[in-house]
Amino acid sequence: MTTDVLIRSVTAVPYRVPLRATLTSALGAQSHSNYGLVRLGVDDGVEGLGEISMIWHGDGARLCAEVDDLLAPQIVGRPLFAYEAILADVRSALRFGRHSLAAVAAVEMALLDAQGKVLGRPVVDLLGGSCASSIRLSMSLSIAAPDRMLAEARAYVEEGFTAVKVKSGRDRRHLVPVVAGLRAEHGPDLGIRVDLNMSCRTAKEALRVCASLEPYDVLSVEQPLPPSDLAGSAFVRERTSVPVMVDEGVWHAEDALAVLRAGAADLINVYIAESGGIREARRIANLAALFGVEVAIGSMPETGVGTAAAAHLAFAVLGLEHPSDVAGFRYHDADVVHHELTISGGHLLPPTTPGLGVHVDETALDRYRTQG
Ligand SMILES: [Mg+2]
Repeated sequence: MTTDVLIRSVTAVPYRVPLRATLTSALGAQSHSNYGLVRLGVDDGVEGLGEISMIWHGDGARLCAEVDDLLAPQIVGRPLFAYEAILADVRSALRFGRHSLAAVAAVEMALLDAQGKVLGRPVVDLLGGSCASSIRLSMSLSIAAPDRMLAEARAYVEEGFTAVKVKSGRDRRHLVPVVAGLRAEHGPDLGIRVDLNMSCRTAKEALRVCASLEPYDVLSVEQPLPPSDLAGSAFVRERTSVPVMVDEGVWHAEDALAVLRAGAADLINVYIAESGGIREARRIANLAALFGVEVAIGSMPETGVGTAAAAHLAFAVLGLEHPSDVAGFRYHDADVVHHELTISGGHLLPPTTPGLGVHVDETALDRYRTQG
């Protein structure tokens, strides 16, 4: 009886793993990921895993204390399949900080991972089953000189990727040369995304950037304006043919509703860490669908557990057409888990093993764990 399965322990372990190469965006340069691994022990030696992946508000590692001190006491001893009741208490224990949603998300991932492992089913099956045979990925190009960005894109294309995301910021001298160069070199089939990471100060500035990209058939321009400027985003969206994606402007479902009601987005980039869980992220996708708005799955980037969670989410979202960022592990030089994620021809293949398909690599975790 699954109702008899009890949660016996919850701990969070901070860790720091290096990226393969420093990622440079409008937000700064990231060389390591400082995240947390939630380990949720249940009966019969089953362990559910969740990842606190967060780059905002001082990284995910510092949220380990919230899991250990505030959430674990809410969870230990309760039935593993009391999902909604547990999550309600977890959310209310951390109700005052949106950065804490990454801790809530990690606990939710661990619950679903453990449930899937107990049931012998992949998490995507707990979400209703897979909607796709593969997920088209896009890989992000760090801000650099145009020839370096084009070389990075070339390597991805040679590896089979069919979409890239051009990062940009206040200094946009590289932007049009890179986008034009990509289109000229790779032809019409390469998906080109642009991410401005909130770097435009006014809606008219954002509109000028979008206009400069119109000749190159880009798939989306991401978050040109600050999150609070919904009217500005709607202004831009009405005046350019380039699809406007809101990213930093949507964390949880209430944000999504405000963005959708304001007509501020053609697309929304959804994160498990920001929405507070796999099911919450899918709720945003369902909400967006009501407004005729598509979503993509975004990335911090996550390591193995977080990427696996994003993968199960991506396969559970009906009509996920826009290339997604579900390749976090691919940016890292190390991991603290074993996972089954496979990329082929620039697409993520369906996860098939129980739970999230992740298990702790104890040697690696010992090596990369930190004090938070
Ligand atoms: Mg973004």
